[in-house]
Amino acid sequence: MIDLRSDTVTRPSAGMLAAMTSAPLGDDVYGEDPTINRLEETVAGLLGHEAGLFTVTGSLANMLGVRALVSPGAEILCEASAHIARAELGAHAAVSGVTTRTWSAPAGQIDLEQIRALIAPDLGSYFVSTAAVSVENTHNFGGGAIQHGYDALADELDALGLPLHLDGARLWNASVASGVPVAAYASRATAASVCLSKGLGAPVGSVLVGSTELIREARIWRKRLGGGWRQAGVLAAAGLYALEHNVQRLAEDHSNARLIADVLADAAPGSVKPDQVETNIVVADLAATGKTVAQVVEAARAAGVLVGGVGHTQLRVVTHLDASTVDCRTAAETLARILQ
Ligand SMILES: *Cc1c(COP(=O)(O)O)cnc(C)c1O
Repeated sequence: MIDLRSDTVTRPSAGMLAAMTSAPLGDDVYGEDPTINRLEETVAGLLGHEAGLFTVTGSLANMLGVRALVSPGAEILCEASAHIARAELGAHAAVSGVTTRTWSAPAGQIDLEQIRALIAPDLGSYFVSTAAVSVENTHNFGGGAIQHGYDALADELDALGLPLHLDGARLWNASVASGVPVAAYASRATAASVCLSKGLGAPVGSVLVGSTELIREARIWRKRLGGGWRQAGVLAAAGLYALEHNVQRLAEDHSNARLIADVLADAAPGSVKPDQVETNIVVADLAATGKTVAQVVEAARAAGVLVGGVGHTQLRVVTHLDASTVDCRTAAETLARILQ
């Protein structure tokens, strides 16, 4: 099977497993796991922040980051298909009492006009107060799009005194594709999360970064929510290994995604614009092909290729370090045969 459902499906390599089994460990609830401490310091440094917190998932890192910026009953603004709004099962509302309003834009992009119209930090005692804005870079359901207008939004929020939350689950993809250092993105945010378990290929883990004070609070909430962990340096070691070995190679995933997009654009004209595939995610719209996502996913599975769907008409194909260029070409040709 060639599995292109997600970049979360990778298995740790022999080198990564060796790093995990030789990592020095301690009890992280006591702050005594040297490998976790090193990972948190390393990621905070790379992202231009004072402190970091290792979490089991990106969803938990986002929950802790958002709740640090938004009080119960206040709101965070985000794009309508953002992971925090669609794929965290309402955690920000269910657990933290945070409400959400959304703007909607092609490829999940920042739309400054719409955001300006939504922002309402203080409309008196009748209306919900806007406490933060969240941006997802790259944008997952937006087809791995790099966010444009990020600095302009950050400047505007700075002027208003409103914090920016960055969901950087795939921030290294954005950085490798754009040439913009991850710190240039993340340092504009008050709280930022990054995933080690996506394109970087670690089996588990995300890191939230922010000020020392924000991370101190987040550490308390992580424990309160049951997310404190003990000798998890065995997992943090995989993250450190990934940061050393698997960042620059993301460029291969990006060129493999472009290859897939080219083949799909030939097979189903108009389904995808290859020049808009900037990173490792291809979203193809099947509306004009007369086939449903379920039919294509099923036919691909029968032919040895696993892909996913977003919504009713969009196919989602994600490249990663366990799918070679040959695998990606084979998968693309299989999908092309099904679509034609
Ligand atoms: C994967 C992802 C997350 C976190 O997902 P977990 O499965 O909870 O680790 C957060 N944001 C985005 C944009 C993602 O793609």
